[in-house]
Amino acid sequence: MTDLILASNNTHKFREFSEILLHADTNLIMQKEAGFVQEVEETGNSFAENAFLKANAVTVYTGRPAIADDSGICVDALDGGPGIYSARFGSGIAANDEERMLLLLKTMEGKTDRHARYVCSICCTFPNGDLLRTECTCEGEVLHAPVGSGGFGYDPIFRPEGFTVSMAQLSPDEKNAISHRGKALREFLKIYERYMNDHK
Ligand code: IMP
Repeated sequence: MTDLILASNNTHKFREFSEILLHADTNLIMQKEAGFVQEVEETGNSFAENAFLKANAVTVYTGRPAIADDSGICVDALDGGPGIYSARFGSGIAANDEERMLLLLKTMEGKTDRHARYVCSICCTFPNGDLLRTECTCEGEVLHAPVGSGGFGYDPIFRPEGFTVSMAQLSPDEKNAISHRGKALREFLKIYERYMNDHK
């Protein structure tokens, strides 16, 4: 079994990664367990650039392979925002996930186009400079009020396409089956297993 360091301090992401990688031949470790305690500044202009910055910082520090996810919600009526700024949306006004979700709801007041998508960009970096990347989306719409207590972040106000309930009302398995993170990680696993086979 190979070790992969998750370049994140987000325990929700760690839980979802662990659930999705449950049957993979990979042992997921949180960055702080590998001795990396810094917060990497997300100065990139895209999910992919930020995922690279986070994974690469951990690989450079530890000399070991690392995986990062940069993700967020992109709302059509907000020209794709908050997008890469989802975790920092309304900074100064909103202090936590729940306040950011309520602020997004308020920002959407009166908007009839509710289309939105979650995006998840995965980057895995290796000490030799090799990179593996995937990116997937989950289409849906912004609801008019929060409902449900599962998931995290904007899940109570996001209804995935094809469902009548919010992402926060789905079980972990149901969410992982359709989520941006579930799709991107499963795609990643395919190329990771091929890469590991070729580099034995
Ligand atoms: P990151 O840590 O910079 O990638 O920020 C991700 C942010 O996007 C999170 O803090 C959430 O606000 C939002 N986000 C990403 N994935 C999800 C999800 O699966 N559900 C709800 N919110 C999410």
